[in-house]
Amino acid sequence: MGILVVGSVAFDSVETPFGVVENVLGGSATYFATSASYFADVSLVAVVGEDFPAEHISFLESRNIDLRGLTRSSGKTFSWKGKYGYDLNEAQTLETKLNVFETFKPTIPAEYADAEFLFLANIDPDLQMDVVRQVKNPRVIASDTMNYWISSKAESLKNVIGKVDILIINDAEARQLSQEPNLVKAARQILSLGVKTLIVKRGEYGVLMFTGSNIFAAPAYPLEKVFDPTGAGDTFAGGFMGYLANTGNLSDAGIRQAIIFGSVMASYNVEDFSLDRMRSLTYKEIEERYRSFKAMTYFEGLPESA
Ligand code: AMP
Repeated sequence: MGILVVGSVAFDSVETPFGVVENVLGGSATYFATSASYFADVSLVAVVGEDFPAEHISFLESRNIDLRGLTRSSGKTFSWKGKYGYDLNEAQTLETKLNVFETFKPTIPAEYADAEFLFLANIDPDLQMDVVRQVKNPRVIASDTMNYWISSKAESLKNVIGKVDILIINDAEARQLSQEPNLVKAARQILSLGVKTLIVKRGEYGVLMFTGSNIFAAPAYPLEKVFDPTGAGDTFAGGFMGYLANTGNLSDAGIRQAIIFGSVMASYNVEDFSLDRMRSLTYKEIEERYRSFKAMTYFEGLPESA
C-alpha cells in the first residue's frame, strides 16, 4: 500500500558539537519519504524553488520516490538553520525562511487522491488541513508538527489533530500543546482532541505510545556515534508509517513493530549529517538493528505463583 507525504523539502544549515553543514538537503518530507521508501511506495507533495539542484532530485528518484507532486516555483527553496548543544535532544532554531512555502497551496494530483496512508509532515497546519480535504478516504492519517506552529497557529493545529488517527510529536511539543508539564496528563489531554494514537518522541530516551487504553514504551538504540539529530523525528515517522503501509497491520502488535522500525531508522539517520547515512543504508542493516532492539528489550516475566 502506498503512502502520500506532504511536508517541507529544504536546505538546512546545522551546527552540532561535532560539525557544521551549510545548505544541505533537509526538510520534513525529504527525511520522511527517504525513510519510508525502504518499506513502501511513497509519493511526495511539496514545493522547491529555482535554486533546488538536480542532484537532490536524482537522490530522491534513486529511492523510487514518486515526485510528480513536487512543484518548482519561482523564488528560493524553504530553508532552516538550527543548532544543537551537547544535549542533542533539543534543536535551537536560528532561522526559518519560508520562501516558496509562503505562497504554496498544495494540490494533490488526481492519481494520489486515493492514497491509503497519508502523512502530514511538519508544515503550516492550514496546509495540512488543505491536504486532508483533498485525500478521499485514507485508511490512516498521521501527522507531525513543531513548536513554531504550536505557538503561531494553535487553533488551526488543533483542528488538524481532530482529523488525524496518529499524532507523532516530541515531548516538549506535547507539553507545549497541552500546557501540561506531566507527560501522561499531557497525553490524555491531546487524545481528547480526537486523535486515537499519540506517539511521543523523547530523543535519546526513546518513544512512548499512548492510546485510550494502552501505553507502550520503546527505548532509543544506544549509540556511540551521534552526529546530527536533525530529521530523526521525520525518519522515525517514515519507518513507522512505511512498515504500517507495507504490512497493512494496524493491530496493537503491528503498531508496536512499526514503532521499532521507526526507531531503527532514526537511529541510523543520526549517525551522519543531513540524509547522508541513508545514502548507503541497506535493508539488511535495518533488519539487523531490529533484531538487536528485540534482544535489548527482552526480559522474562515473573514466575506463576503456586
Ligand atoms: P526533525 O525531524 O524535527 O528534526 O525535522 C527537521 C526538519 O524539519 C529539517 O530538515 C527542517 O528543514 C524542517 N523544518 C524546520 N522547521 C520547519 C518548519 N517551520 N516547517 C516545515 N519544516 C521545517
